[in-house]
Amino acid sequence: MSSPMAVYDRVLKIGHGSRAARARLNLRRIKHSIRSPINVPGELTVTDVSIDAEHVVIQWGDGMTCRYPFRYLRLQCGCAGCVEEMTGRAILAPVSVPDDILILDQLLVGRYAMQFMFTDGHTTGIYPLKDLRKMSQFDAVQCEGPGRRGI
Ligand SMILES: [Zn+2]
Repeated sequence: MSSPMAVYDRVLKIGHGSRAARARLNLRRIKHSIRSPINVPGELTVTDVSIDAEHVVIQWGDGMTCRYPFRYLRLQCGCAGCVEEMTGRAILAPVSVPDDILILDQLLVGRYAMQFMFTDGHTTGIYPLKDLRKMSQFDAVQCEGPGRRGI
């Protein structure tokens, strides 16, 4: 029988393993380098959302402003048509997404998510605010201001 400390060590290792696995999954899905893994405590709020020529611009409640390229957001879509629900396997082929895809409109879904209308007709993706915030740590998303990158 294992000592309590050995069990504790094993739990820690399993915990680290799954975090690393999740990180690898994120890296595969969002192929950009991580700036810094930092936690933002408290509830995420959005004070303004606008669309410029190439980006969705989100102003977060903590003062950070992030610009999300249209095509980048399209590739992150997690709807059942783009990602296999059970396995998390990508169904959407990046080559099928035009380089010049645009976002025509956006919608705040309750207090927790956003929805986008893409020019390829795709509208079914729900983008939780926490996922959008998480994307702030990747190079594709340009952020400035006092907020902390990542979650
Ligand atoms: Zn989708």
